[in-house]
Amino acid sequence: MASSELEFDVIVVGGGPSGFIAATASARLGARTLLVERYGFLGGMPTSACIGPISPFHFGDEQVIAGIPQQFIDRMVDEGGSTGHAKATDPRGHGSYVCFYDRQLYKWVALQMVREAGAEVLLHTFVDDVIVEDGAVRGIVVTNKSGRTSLRAKVVVDASGDGDVAKAAGARHVLGREPDGVLQPVTLMFEMAGVDTAALKSYMDSHPEDFWRTSEIVPMRSFSPRLESRHFCGQGFVSAVRQAHEAGELSLGRDSVLFWTTVHQGVVHFNSTRVAGIDGTKASDLTRAEVEGRRQVMSLSNFLVTKIECFKDAWLSDTGIQVGVRETRHVVGEYVLTESDVVEGRKFDDVIARGYFPVDIHNPQPKAGAKQDGGVWRDLEDAYDIPYRCLVPESVDGLLVAGRAISASHEAHASFRTQGGVMAIGHAAGAAAALAATHRVQPRALEVGLLQQALLREGALLHRDHEQVAAQKQRAAAAVQAALDAGKISRRYLAIPPRD
Ligand SMILES: Cc1cc2nc3c(=O)[nH]c(=O)nc-3n(C[C@H](O)[C@H](O)[C@H](O)COP(=O)(O)OP(=O)(O)OC[C@H]3O[C@@H](n4cnc5c(N)ncnc54)[C@H](O)[C@@H]3O)c2cc1C
Repeated sequence: MASSELEFDVIVVGGGPSGFIAATASARLGARTLLVERYGFLGGMPTSACIGPISPFHFGDEQVIAGIPQQFIDRMVDEGGSTGHAKATDPRGHGSYVCFYDRQLYKWVALQMVREAGAEVLLHTFVDDVIVEDGAVRGIVVTNKSGRTSLRAKVVVDASGDGDVAKAAGARHVLGREPDGVLQPVTLMFEMAGVDTAALKSYMDSHPEDFWRTSEIVPMRSFSPRLESRHFCGQGFVSAVRQAHEAGELSLGRDSVLFWTTVHQGVVHFNSTRVAGIDGTKASDLTRAEVEGRRQVMSLSNFLVTKIECFKDAWLSDTGIQVGVRETRHVVGEYVLTESDVVEGRKFDDVIARGYFPVDIHNPQPKAGAKQDGGVWRDLEDAYDIPYRCLVPESVDGLLVAGRAISASHEAHASFRTQGGVMAIGHAAGAAAALAATHRVQPRALEVGLLQQALLREGALLHRDHEQVAAQKQRAAAAVQAALDAGKISRRYLAIPPRD
């Protein structure tokens, strides 16, 4: 990059789900935009930490996330790498819809969307400092193979997940839960290939007492026939895991196995290891987590191959290139989203995205077991609004926060942190940064109405449309009925009635 190219309207730090959507939104609004990412690909946790299906964009059957995030899903479906949102027959522990995707295509589609929008991308580049002048962020300092470089921008979007830019700029932040700093545990995700998934499903059907949760998945749109499969997810093997724990034969931070089918035949995805007490902003803690996470992956995959018949020919086919970090810093903004805002479905005039997912806190205690004995899964009374003020740090100008580090309590974060939530926040942060830069105002002074109009123009959903909701419910009920009639799903897993 020549020195004349080192000034941008907007720099987005971090190419995860919030960051690549933010960069796309910013560039589409005409701002000269740079996306900086430490890895050699985009996608953040989903592609680097081997994350499983995208959780719902829905509250019950109501789709609450659309706009650029939905364009991304549509593009993955069109390119043959995703099922789109499919309905889970039992949402407990999994969410009301799941969207299966191919991780390699995720990386590629994200990169294409950012570049087609006109944003520049700088990969293999770590942001380790900021330029602050007169209390405002004016750019970032990066380290990469070329050395150290300063890059200037009118507005910087911190989509690092950890609030790295905000921290370097001196913005107030909270680590994990207040007041004790407890953090959600981290997980090294993995996949196994060569699994007899039909036998796995039959085993689940014939041993319901051994599974806390099973959900079958009903497709809601057509997608590549190459991805056709009987999709399901489950949490169980409870007795085998208990016996193995008692016999000292299994090294695992929880007391059951949580898994999903994937877009690849015979490949099963596991969200099953757990390491508690890790601060994902500390290299020493992350190192400890990688060692312990890998120990659990090796132990559990060996256990499945040797003890569970349908895994006897399976092998460990993938692990995250890093441990999955759910929670670190929450940057304190002009408003702090609370658990009651989330659970009671609170609405705000400065809504820029909507939240829909239950409060999902994995047990933060080491080795204490599953959600029932330590974690939280709390359903919401209604979808809620995320106010623009949560993206605006309380005292630092020139900066917006996107993704999982926005201003929220530990409990509220546990709801919006899934991919639909952070993508919608990223859409708003990128659009706001572009508008602030081109109107030459600070992000906190941006007229929110202008931002809301820009989001609506791109198809974002900021308010409930009752007619749409009624149609979506009807469509979902018809799809479930058709799957039942065709014998593709079983009535026994329709555990709770659809939400009104
Ligand atoms: C174990 C686990 C399981 C999950 N399961 C699901 C699930 O089933 N469904 C679902 O929808 N969601 C799931 N999630 C949630 C979801 O993946 C994350 O909340 C989401 O990825 C957060 O997006 P983000 O853009 O805020 O941050 P991240 O995904 O963390 O992305 C941050 C990006 O910034 C980059 N970066 C960080 N620091 C710097 C720096 N200083 N300089 C340059 N680049 C930097 C990173 O490399 C990364 O690409 C899970 C998360 C975890 C950890």
